Amino acid sequence: MLVNMKEILEIAERERYAIPCINTPNVETIRAVIGAAEELNTPIIIDHAEVHDSLIPIERIGPEMIKYAKEASVPVCVHLDHGTDYNFVLRAIKAGFPSIMYDCSALPFEENIAKVKKFVQIAHAAGITVEAELGVMASTEEDTHADAETQVLTNEDIKKFFTEPEEAKIFAEETGCDALAVCFGTMHGIYAEPPVLDIDRVKEIRAALPKDCRVVMHGASGVEFSQVQNAIDAGCSKINYYSYMAKATTKFVGELIAEKEGKIAYHEVQEEAYKFMKSYAKEVILAFKNGK
Ligand SMILES: [Zn+2]
Repeated sequence: MLVNMKEILEIAERERYAIPCINTPNVETIRAVIGAAEELNTPIIIDHAEVHDSLIPIERIGPEMIKYAKEASVPVCVHLDHGTDYNFVLRAIKAGFPSIMYDCSALPFEENIAKVKKFVQIAHAAGITVEAELGVMASTEEDTHADAETQVLTNEDIKKFFTEPEEAKIFAEETGCDALAVCFGTMHGIYAEPPVLDIDRVKEIRAALPKDCRVVMHGASGVEFSQVQNAIDAGCSKINYYSYMAKATTKFVGELIAEKEGKIAYHEVQEEAYKFMKSYAKEVILAFKNGK
């Protein structure tokens, strides 16, 4: 069934686990991720990234995401990932998305607040949930959903972007956002060195936020599951995961084609990729359920 993010994150909060949010830029990935959630009888969030729109526009993939979500036996939230352009956000609303990330994190603090606050008022009136971001999520060279500006960052560099708990409190109270992506050691894409998460910061942010605003972690792929689980225990309810699943699937497909010496039809490759992604997504869901 199709739900907004508030309903999904209430389940995560109650059960004390985190729900993966996975990019689904094609039908095989939608089937794989929702299929994995159904087999494990757990809620899931699927999202379309603004940066994937050049691959497939939201008007094409959005209705597919929503159709599969409605038919699913578990709650599925269809979410817009990193909407930075207001026109793009409006296109997601028009496509029927029940949840939107309006990312104004590149703007100064006050401007970020003002823009998100205004949007939350409109979105909530329409029953749409809003995720915002505070602190900048850095991107790496191999980011699978990055725009042109990429860089290689060390753990020391990432610290400059960390979210301050006091600012998170002010931001969430002022804007009324339902979820807040914060920075405490992760970044998008493929890591230059093993990331180190500031778990105490997650605890402080969670304690500072209003009761109905949830902590979101981006860039979880590439982080050891044990560290992710510490972040979940500290209060992360939604965790974005994609880059490493995409990379692992490419490797799998390359090996499959080599093994078959090229004697495999494209639709069979697609089907095998779907099965691979489904088992990968199941591992991610189970890790984020954290033994619950
Ligand atoms: Zn992100």
